[in-house]
Amino acid sequence: MAGRLGIKIDVDTLEGFCKGVPALLQVLGDQAVKASFFLALGPDHSGRAIFRIFRQRGFLEKMWRTRAPALYGFKTMCYGTLLPGPRIGAAAPDLVPRLAAAGHEVGLHGYDHVRWHDHLFHLPPEQVTREITLAQDAFTKYAGRRAAAFAAPGWQCSLSSRTALAAQNFLYGSDTRGTTPYFPAFGNTVTSVLEIPTTLPTLDELLGFHGCRARDFTRLVLSRLENGRPQVLTIHAEVEGGPFLGEFARLLERCRDRGVAFFRLEDWARELLREPDRLPVAQVTLKRLPGRAGRVSCQGPVEARPS
Ligand SMILES: [Zn+2]
Repeated sequence: MAGRLGIKIDVDTLEGFCKGVPALLQVLGDQAVKASFFLALGPDHSGRAIFRIFRQRGFLEKMWRTRAPALYGFKTMCYGTLLPGPRIGAAAPDLVPRLAAAGHEVGLHGYDHVRWHDHLFHLPPEQVTREITLAQDAFTKYAGRRAAAFAAPGWQCSLSSRTALAAQNFLYGSDTRGTTPYFPAFGNTVTSVLEIPTTLPTLDELLGFHGCRARDFTRLVLSRLENGRPQVLTIHAEVEGGPFLGEFARLLERCRDRGVAFFRLEDWARELLREPDRLPVAQVTLKRLPGRAGRVSCQGPVEARPS
């Protein structure tokens, strides 16, 4: 079996950045796999996510199913509520250059992850732009250059956010769930930044469903690679870089045994953008996904390109 797999690693919290990222660096290095990291470098306000219990259908059930306090730690659950939210990037400023030096792609995962995740659709466009600018400024401080890619926290994107990415010259975004790269449309407006969606479900979405365990998830990923089409898997520094690190290492091993080729999303984006006219346009719609609380931005049916 061959197949192509892009590993997208979202880093949401201080715990994920300081502990999950170094652990993942080690495992990826052992397997000689290059991945795409997306960092939220602003304040860790994870404790505020608790208010989703009152707003989002399925949040409490998901917290219980994934045993979130065990995954994220009690302290993390207090940041932004009982404890002030620490600045994530400042806690380990050498990590961003270390990731790049190891050959991984490093992009942005918002600034204040919880603010974007919970409020994007209520923020005025200038506030959306500000979140992206703050993220880019923090990244530039640690990396010495601007980031080329943005992955929206919680797969929440809007016309405002995609317009801001275009204004700030991002190469591509990875904001949605879908099947194939495309240019996102919102009603009659087609936006100009390429979108590379996450194509596979995540481990935390599947855990606990009908007794589903991590090894069942590995089997599912391997089966989805069989059709040979490139797939994008999102993992979390707090999950696969934490209690499920061993299972993630086994997934990489089994992929390598089967001849799967790993790619960085940025390299695929550059390859695709050599012929942008061949890429489809698709509407972005909000949908509920099994195992995920609330609604996420998803790729809708492919549309004809406007002439
Ligand atoms: Zn995230």
